[in-house]
Amino acid sequence: MRIGAHVDPTDPLAEAAARDAEAVQFFLADPQGWKAPKPREDAERLRAADVDLYVHAPYVINVATLNNRIRIPSRKLLLGHAAAAAAVGARGLIVHGGHVNAGDDLAVGFDNWRKTFAYAADSGGFPLPILIENTAGGENACARHLDALARLWDALGDYEVGFCLDTCHAHAGGEELLGLVDRVKAITGRIDLIHANNSKGTFNSGQDRHDNLTGGTIDPELVVAVIRAAGAPVIVETPGGVEGQAADIAFLHGQLGAAA
Ligand SMILES: [Zn+2]
Repeated sequence: MRIGAHVDPTDPLAEAAARDAEAVQFFLADPQGWKAPKPREDAERLRAADVDLYVHAPYVINVATLNNRIRIPSRKLLLGHAAAAAAVGARGLIVHGGHVNAGDDLAVGFDNWRKTFAYAADSGGFPLPILIENTAGGENACARHLDALARLWDALGDYEVGFCLDTCHAHAGGEELLGLVDRVKAITGRIDLIHANNSKGTFNSGQDRHDNLTGGTIDPELVVAVIRAAGAPVIVETPGGVEGQAADIAFLHGQLGAAA
């Protein structure tokens, strides 16, 4: 099982080495901005690395919304990030499930997701797996609660779609971690990546505030149990820089055993 961290994008491989990480996740552009990613000069080195790479799409992307001025650029930005992530040899592009505005019909949001994959298919499809991530907050989210996730997967049935399970988001979003992997897999059939994070916010608080694995409001053993059940690669998106994340990675290696 490959374990790594979300790191600064300047030199992801150096960040991996500093944390003893076998995987890294990073951004290819400002996560709060709409700028398309630029080609990376180190693309060849990244592609050749024996560290597994994941790219996280900007947070501003919301392909579900009924607001055209957000949805249309979101689609374009997602496709641009997919191409750029594939160019560095990433194993997946993680994107949040998104939401519709209060009063809007969530069914349209799910259909907007379907249209996003149809739009990509028009140009040959996404060049790498798209991993939709569960989110912590909001009453109109596509991937906070499992009943919504099931409707999303129904809408996306024709397409190959991956899933990234974030333990902080699940807990803060109001989904019990105990047995969660089985409940998710019953819907998605797969979990491609675990975001292993503890949560500063309490259960069902809706707060997206990550904490180190042995801090926070989640019993760390539950995070370990989720990882074990999922059998998927792990990225910690925890605070504390090199030291904090290296400690979280070491904690997971210790809990999961040397063979992990
Ligand atoms: Zn996450």
